Amino acid sequence: MPRSLAKSNAHFRRALATLPLGVSSNFRYWGEGKTLYIKRGRGARIWDLDDNEYIDYRLGYGPVILGHCHPEVDAAARAGQEIGTVFALSTEREAVVAEQISDMVPAAELVRFSNSGTEAVMAALRLARGVTGRDGYVILEGSYHGLFDAVMWQADVEGMSDPSQEPEVRPFGKGVPGLVQQLLWHVPYNDAQRLEDVLRKNSDRIAAVLIEPILGSCCGIPATPEFFRAVRELTERYGVLMIADEVKTGFRVARGGAQQLYGVKADICTMAKAMANGYPIAAIGGREDLMRHYGGGGVTHGGTYTAGAMPLAAAERTLLILKDTDVLARVSAYGLRLQEGMARILTSRGIRHSFAGHPSMGGLFFRESPPRNYRDWKLSDYTFYDSLAQYLIENGVVCEPDSREPWFISGAHDDDCLLKTLSVFEAGVDATVRDLARTGTEASA
Ligand code: PMP
Repeated sequence: MPRSLAKSNAHFRRALATLPLGVSSNFRYWGEGKTLYIKRGRGARIWDLDDNEYIDYRLGYGPVILGHCHPEVDAAARAGQEIGTVFALSTEREAVVAEQISDMVPAAELVRFSNSGTEAVMAALRLARGVTGRDGYVILEGSYHGLFDAVMWQADVEGMSDPSQEPEVRPFGKGVPGLVQQLLWHVPYNDAQRLEDVLRKNSDRIAAVLIEPILGSCCGIPATPEFFRAVRELTERYGVLMIADEVKTGFRVARGGAQQLYGVKADICTMAKAMANGYPIAAIGGREDLMRHYGGGGVTHGGTYTAGAMPLAAAERTLLILKDTDVLARVSAYGLRLQEGMARILTSRGIRHSFAGHPSMGGLFFRESPPRNYRDWKLSDYTFYDSLAQYLIENGVVCEPDSREPWFISGAHDDDCLLKTLSVFEAGVDATVRDLARTGTEASA
């Protein structure tokens, strides 16, 4: 039976009166008649207002690494709540969690907390600028670093008609001052030569290179090990700081994040999502000589809600679980089995496909070889993905409707989730092939 969204739709109409688009983040608006409102989540599953059940592969864009409402983390958060909320003074647990982070992420010799990924990256960039006395910075195509003006720039790959041309760099929407662009260099991902060209000519104006080691908002495209190492070597050679934005990869792709996987240490790194299973807390970690500039070196960092007692307690427990159990290995193993199952279904139908990135946050890509950068995504059959995703969502498997977001796995995804997902996926692939044939859109088979 097709799902009913009667209650979600009615709520949407009510919410429209007080919330632009009826939501609290533009990305949660999926269109009239399609926007979901969630009643609750447990483990790997979520239910909407109409009690439709979904297996969740979005996990709030990654944070819910242990599954929704993890009993131990929630109990720890409640105990944290007993302390109070915020005091405009520090609590003991800040140093405890900072020690945990330092222990898991060697680059984080010292730690400061923030409330969100955006705030953490903002603080990291300010630190790099404060230390170097330079305002410029490099970001890489296909990256997402949050909602502040400095990083709200993207290569307009979608609008490119000729893939051999350079995409135009544009702000993510209106309201981002054009002036900011003067401080920014935008370099293609996995292109060390282009990065070196920029640094050779402009390093006296550049404070930092920001890199997502795995493009968490672009199919999970990973940096090649050579590129990640080249970023380290080039930044050292040209006296520019390297900021690894591990907001999505931190404590997810390995206990020590992507820096552990690659064996590379950044000067400054940011972590957020998997750190507290969804409670609002983030961290900036970095070299001691740099981090001491917060305060001592005149770089401002703070925030009323920073290191609140409840999210901090949730972080302590989440990090303990990630460190002391095999949960991350299970997350990866599930991701691999999911990809193997999808590959079997697609291969048996002659549909070209590939997977990008780490299995705990992998991208599904309709082209025979995985993308190396954002420009490659444009060459894939994302129309096929878009139709398939719609079918999956309507039938109880929530992935991101946009093919640029990876599939996130939690420790709560189990065999039952896998079986159901693959059965819906198989039916979805067949339905998509049929639908696209009917509408005359070329399938990738
Ligand atoms: N950096 C990266 C790599 C991200 O993926 C995100 C969020 N998707 C951010 C920064 C911003 O984090 P937040 O949404 O918590 O502000």
